[in-house]
Amino acid sequence: MPELPEVTNLARQMDRELRGRRIADVEIVQPKCLNVPPEEFKRLLASTVVNGVTSRGKWIFMDLEPRATLLLNLGMGGEVLFHRNGDPLPGNHQSAILFDDGSAFSQHFWWFGYVHVVKTAELASHAMTAALGLDPLDDGEFTRGTFEKLLEQKKRSTIKTVLMDQKNIAGIGNVYVQDILFTAGLHPLRKTADVTVSERAALYGAIRSQLRNALELGGLAYEKDLYNRPGRFKDFLVGYREGKPCPVCGTPIQKIRTGSTASFICPHCQE
Ligand SMILES: [Zn+2]
Repeated sequence: MPELPEVTNLARQMDRELRGRRIADVEIVQPKCLNVPPEEFKRLLASTVVNGVTSRGKWIFMDLEPRATLLLNLGMGGEVLFHRNGDPLPGNHQSAILFDDGSAFSQHFWWFGYVHVVKTAELASHAMTAALGLDPLDDGEFTRGTFEKLLEQKKRSTIKTVLMDQKNIAGIGNVYVQDILFTAGLHPLRKTADVTVSERAALYGAIRSQLRNALELGGLAYEKDLYNRPGRFKDFLVGYREGKPCPVCGTPIQKIRTGSTASFICPHCQE
């Protein structure tokens, strides 16, 4: 499932590749992914020009001049691909945006994803993106201070739940949370109120370093970028390494159930 590193990488590639291109037509194979009827979707996108592409958490925002914003969420995963003039579109695509220079941009979701469009002036009323929390890689937004404030507000929840709630911090899911908690030495079921000052500092650092490192490597090795190339991040510390030795103490890594999700922990380092 794509999380902040994969989505950020994709948005940066889209920004470089698609900026300045004008939309000529839109193909909708799967209208269930849309937030408006296909006719309105096409009308809002027609003849607009890509002004820039950004991301927040697991959502990609494509700013279209003069009036619209395309919002993309890959859900459990999928392919979002760029096609040069003359390249055929993949047979399994659920939607595609065709540019006037013959290039195209297609979307295919493995399970379910969203391709939404809103008038840019009404972006704040798009409930799914308006509720997104802090961007953990934004230096101005995600500081020790804002993180402390968040933990204080959520002190009754377990720490893993706090980290994974997209309304708190946008972009951490069940993949990257594993090594973040391990690096900070925290068991996923620790009550947030009981996390000490030094553990909070370690957790803040772990969120930043784990996500930054994965982003630098272009995201997960089993996710694809805009050019259908895999990411280079594959060396988890404890994530998905059940039974293998902990990289710090050698204790076999355990897979445990934590609410509705699975967690991978070192029972010695994460008491
Ligand atoms: Zn250990």
